[in-house]
Amino acid sequence: MSGDQALFQPLPWQQAQWTQIDQARRRQQLTHAWLLAGPEGVGKRSFARALAASLLCGQPDAEGRACGVCRGCRMLASGGHPDAHLLGLDGHLGLAASEELQAEDGLSFWTPKKDSARRDIAVDAVRSLLEKLTVSAHLGGARVIVIHPASEMSEATANSLLKTIEEPPANTYLLFLAEFPQALKQTIRSRCQLLRFAPPPPVAALDWLRARHPAADAALLAEAGGAPLKAARWLEQDEPARRQRWHRLLGEVGGRRLDPLQAAAEFGRDKREVGALCRYWQEQLLAQLRGGHWSQRHEQFLALLLEGLRRLEDTNAQPQLLLESLLLRWRMLAGTSASA
Ligand SMILES: [Zn+2]
Repeated sequence: MSGDQALFQPLPWQQAQWTQIDQARRRQQLTHAWLLAGPEGVGKRSFARALAASLLCGQPDAEGRACGVCRGCRMLASGGHPDAHLLGLDGHLGLAASEELQAEDGLSFWTPKKDSARRDIAVDAVRSLLEKLTVSAHLGGARVIVIHPASEMSEATANSLLKTIEEPPANTYLLFLAEFPQALKQTIRSRCQLLRFAPPPPVAALDWLRARHPAADAALLAEAGGAPLKAARWLEQDEPARRQRWHRLLGEVGGRRLDPLQAAAEFGRDKREVGALCRYWQEQLLAQLRGGHWSQRHEQFLALLLEGLRRLEDTNAQPQLLLESLLLRWRMLAGTSASA
């Protein structure tokens, strides 16, 4: 199977979910609204892409899998299928059979203004979609709408989609993707059929991962929470090396072997990098919490960290100053606790 064709298939550990859908389809009882829920990196997008392709394919195989070569499949590959929609943070776009579910030269129906600070799925994106749904499917087949990340729908956005979920146009399918079902408003959640995705058994996960990255090992997979696509992404972004650098940084500042101001000067230049470091920090603190190493001071620090992350995302906060103040507090905290 070529790399591109793999984009039209569910992942090896998603057979149970696939069979559930395929059987419903054979009975002609395929629900119109699905909620695909599971942690980051277990393959929700892969599954949504394979399902969308299957619904739009002109000649799916005996198990309902898309062929990857017919007109519908080719249009989906490039994000140019007029009946395949993506609602996301970038607006209302053509759904594409790509890693990110969108393509640079794919269809674009509505996008937020470039300088907009908005970080949710805009109600205007839904309006744009609803307008498209008033006419029948362009190719006369199914219509698929993927909403990702569905947790980022505002109240208004969710409300404007409700009627479509309750009374969808014929042969129209909505796929909501979220890490937790509770991330969706009850009104939406209760109208969707839930399809859960969990990390695959470690052996299957490692097999899949090693086929792409022969150097991958079980420790890395475990650190990624057993989520193979997350581990793969880390390897592609050289994440293990970054995480090692961050680990050393926090250990050395906490152990008073590295000056916080000097560390902030080195690590605080880039806002995104500081954001990624803060999320790593948060992850490590939560692991300590689960390990029972916890105090009120840890809790206070975690609150500071989350506030810092929020300021980084919302405002023009100076990343270096923010990192400085966090590292100074971290040194104080580590000085009072052997576990840090
Ligand atoms: Zn096809």
